[in-house]
Amino acid sequence: MAYLDIPAEQSSPSHFDAVVVGAGFAGLYALHKLRDQLGLRVRVFEAGHGVGGTWFWNQYPGARCDVESLHYSYSFLAELQQEWNWSEKYASQPEILAYLNHVADRFDLRSDISFETRVTSAVWNEHDRVWEIGCGDGSAVTARYLICGSGNLSVPKDPQFDGMENFDGEVYLTGRWPHDGVNFEGKKVAVVGTGSSGIQVITEIAKKADHLTVFQRTPNYATPLRNVPADPERTAAIKANYPQVRENARKTRGGVPDYNPLPSALTVTPEERRRVFDECWDAGGFQLYVGSFQDILIDKSANATISEYIRERISERIDNPALAEKLIPTDYPYGTKRPPFETGYYEIFNQPNVTLVDVRETPIVSVTSGGVLTTDSEHEADILVLATGFDAITGPVLDMGIIGRDGETLNDKWAHGPRTYLGLSVHGFPNLFLVTGPQSPSVLYNMPLAIEDHVDFIADAIEYCRRNGVETIEARLAAEDAWVAHTVELSDATLLPETDAWWMTGGTNGKPRVCMLYIGGAAAYREICAKVVADGYDGFDVSAQRSASFAGTSSRRE
Ligand SMILES: Cc1cc2nc3c(=O)[nH]c(=O)nc-3n(C[C@H](O)[C@H](O)[C@H](O)COP(=O)(O)OP(=O)(O)OC[C@H]3O[C@@H](n4cnc5c(N)ncnc54)[C@H](O)[C@@H]3O)c2cc1C
Repeated sequence: MAYLDIPAEQSSPSHFDAVVVGAGFAGLYALHKLRDQLGLRVRVFEAGHGVGGTWFWNQYPGARCDVESLHYSYSFLAELQQEWNWSEKYASQPEILAYLNHVADRFDLRSDISFETRVTSAVWNEHDRVWEIGCGDGSAVTARYLICGSGNLSVPKDPQFDGMENFDGEVYLTGRWPHDGVNFEGKKVAVVGTGSSGIQVITEIAKKADHLTVFQRTPNYATPLRNVPADPERTAAIKANYPQVRENARKTRGGVPDYNPLPSALTVTPEERRRVFDECWDAGGFQLYVGSFQDILIDKSANATISEYIRERISERIDNPALAEKLIPTDYPYGTKRPPFETGYYEIFNQPNVTLVDVRETPIVSVTSGGVLTTDSEHEADILVLATGFDAITGPVLDMGIIGRDGETLNDKWAHGPRTYLGLSVHGFPNLFLVTGPQSPSVLYNMPLAIEDHVDFIADAIEYCRRNGVETIEARLAAEDAWVAHTVELSDATLLPETDAWWMTGGTNGKPRVCMLYIGGAAAYREICAKVVADGYDGFDVSAQRSASFAGTSSRRE
């Protein structure tokens, strides 16, 4: 076969058909798919010392998923789905990490992963049509394809408050949590940040710390998760019907079945609306967000009904009305930030060992040797926990030093916000693929399924190139422009651009605030991708060049 005709310079041990960055859900599946099903020679580079990505790094107490585990898991192999058992409805971080380690072992993936190896540069060599990839340890390889499975939430923000260097205590980032744990017993703890991770970690620390001070900038609409032990009957019913369950999931907006929102919060009676909200509140998890009414993210008045409902339900749980006022959001619509979920979060503020500091009223001035100084007072702390979020969505790929054709850097290309075609490909960067990249459904789509869809698309595209003697595949500029415009048009029709959230870009220096996600839903997105493929990779430049040669053997492992 043509692809086994390997030119001398590409048969070296440091040349690969594909390099994959990251060994989380995306990197593990990409390695299995490309190596074991396409027979390619693949190398994975992972900055951490183990597999798991998000679930390797975020080992803070309380970390767990908020998409039901029976759905938040791979679907690509029936046996894998059957053999794994989740102990809770929403698995905790250790269990998800154990699952991903099981996947790595089951498919013998570790042997092709270089751990503790960060990709620090990736330069397109137009002459040889390969990516020249450099790593932090000084090693270098080349690859026909560069596949970024580097995550959307894998670069934590590390705020440097004045005086951090003077702090006598311990400092931890939730997104880089020590694997041997942290002892909070008898300690004074300060937590900065009240997003999803902050809410999870604060609730757990409040149970142990002598005193906990929570520094909040923006209050959140956190709603109950309602985690419970796995229900054996539900597990059995889903397992008996898994292929259909997954197919149904992929026909929804978010990749999870079982949500049946009514069309509008405004066309029902107040009593009926209340009944729906109560039912969703009691069901927990994403029910309120995606299972109540279809117009809550589109119509301001519809959103006002749910925002007000959540405010009311939160206030019932906080004893001190003045404190409730600080904890309840009033200045942005529910759902325009990624909704966090909680288990007893608001009640901890009724405990005598917990203090809330609203940094919009009394900003942090500096970190002192003994704690955190605000404009109002000094708050003592032995441990400082930073739950300050991520350089979301674009951060990991922009950190990689990617340079495309004609020396254009990805950072320059994306200086005014990301530009992709389908969230998968970038004009000027041939043979570069992004898994769940910007302008794809990504974090709005149950991510293991979003990842599988993208990796399958990428594998099919590579196979298409191999069959057709195509050496490079790349988004056409016009297709990219049209896709960016389409994603902006979709988000502009919603309330999302009103709010400063981590999935938005711009919004400062006169730049428009633009959503970095495709918000048309997974089902619509999948249809678009299927049509692109059916039309011969419409929007991609796949004109045949020299015959594409591949270093891999054709001996597929399954
Ligand atoms: C606390 C938390 C809870 C979440 N809960 C959910 C949930 O319930 N449902 C859901 O759908 N999603 C959830 N997510 C999103 C989650 O990130 C995805 O579900 C999924 O784990 C992403 O997998 P990934 O492989 O794409 O990326 P990651 O898991 O982020 O893995 C990327 C890997 O790439 C590595 N990497 C990055 N850059 C480089 C480089 N230059 N060189 C080498 N290695 C590099 C990183 O070290 C990391 O290990 C959650 C995220 C967080 C942080």
